[in-house]
Amino acid sequence: MIDEKLQPILNEVMNRNAGEQEFHQAVKEVLESLGRVIAKRPYYADNALIERLCEPERQIIFRVPWIDDNGQVQINRGFRVQFNSALGPYKGGIRFHPSVNVGIIKFLGFEQTFKNALTGMPIGGGKGGSDFNPRGRSDREVMRFCQSFMSELHRHLGEYTDVPAGDIGVGGREIGYMFGQYKRLTNKYEAGVLTGKALFHGGSRARREATGYGATYFVERMLATRGETFEGKRTVVSGSGNVAIYTMEKVLEFGGIIAACSDSNGYVVDDNGIDLDLVKEIKEVRRGRLSEYVKLRGAGAHYIEDGSIWDVPCAVAMPSATQNELTGRDAKRLITNGVMAVGEGANMPSTPDAVKLFQDAGVLFAPGKAANAGGVATSALEMQQNASRDSWTFEKTETRLAEIMRDIHDRCAETADEYGAPGDYVLGANIAGFVRVAEAMDALGVI
Ligand code: GLU
Repeated sequence: MIDEKLQPILNEVMNRNAGEQEFHQAVKEVLESLGRVIAKRPYYADNALIERLCEPERQIIFRVPWIDDNGQVQINRGFRVQFNSALGPYKGGIRFHPSVNVGIIKFLGFEQTFKNALTGMPIGGGKGGSDFNPRGRSDREVMRFCQSFMSELHRHLGEYTDVPAGDIGVGGREIGYMFGQYKRLTNKYEAGVLTGKALFHGGSRARREATGYGATYFVERMLATRGETFEGKRTVVSGSGNVAIYTMEKVLEFGGIIAACSDSNGYVVDDNGIDLDLVKEIKEVRRGRLSEYVKLRGAGAHYIEDGSIWDVPCAVAMPSATQNELTGRDAKRLITNGVMAVGEGANMPSTPDAVKLFQDAGVLFAPGKAANAGGVATSALEMQQNASRDSWTFEKTETRLAEIMRDIHDRCAETADEYGAPGDYVLGANIAGFVRVAEAMDALGVI
């Protein structure tokens, strides 16, 4: 339910951003949490801080021309939505996927603003990307695309202005090519302009692992509120990208069992528990498809092409693929199968009806903007290392990450208590993130 004072704000967002369904969904969820805040502090509503927060500071859309291996000219569309810079330079990843459009980037930039505020680090929110599909493209094609993308984007970036990183379809290789082009165009070795870099370019140890590790730390702490741990628990992790792989790694370290994982073609169930080294080999080394897993693994492994990974019984579900991948139907199935906790590794992977079903059933539910904040938090640690020209050990970086995740968990839980909704991490994350950004915006004046 949305407060009657906030309904006009949502209406305006929907009119102004017509057809951008994911953006509407993300804004609606936050506004549903803010009724309790404006009841306590009408100041935020009276000074249009919510409206201001829903309108990106700047939106850049550009043409990305490049030449494929056959000598054909290809045209894609590039985006960067610089959502909010009240707390620091715009910060957020770049996504290369055919589904990318301005509405997707806007929803991601909006979520990022709250997520980044929750980390407690000095970073604003932004997001970028392109409808470029890297699947099946050669290394040289990816390089030429990244160079063209950065040829436009570079003028909008800077370590004090806007600091992109990776997201779906953008990993270490793409960041390297973009950093190379940025460096060439600006004639500056400005390491702090991008995060997720290779170690020899000033990248941070544990950045690759950070989102998945962080989400697992969050769920571990959430389970602890009910006296539970991962030990012996069947866990299903959707996806098999960077977030999913390092979620699985940390869950295994905590004594959990990985029952299944997936890619966009299907999912794998392994009666003996997923062999993570094999998944890494297929995805990270060969850049292949998960369907290869069964051939290589043999007995006990099953590949299911049609159907939902959420039909696989588990105690913990960690959706780590993409937005709206877990529906109301999936939530019902998970609840029937006795799920105890859900931690979102991806951004907004559960549909609103799925979230409601989990909460009504008393399932512990960690929203992405809190649970997956470990990636961007470690990006902020990378910026810190770049600013001081330092390079921390893996242990030091992971220790900081674990502390940050514990703090985010506790801030969400305490805020939920304070606003009369104990255990509601959605409300806690939305309010805690909102208050921090709103206060920072307000102190800057009406700008
Ligand atoms: N794309 C990641 C996210 O959704 C990381 C962003 C970053 O490190 O800047 O939070």
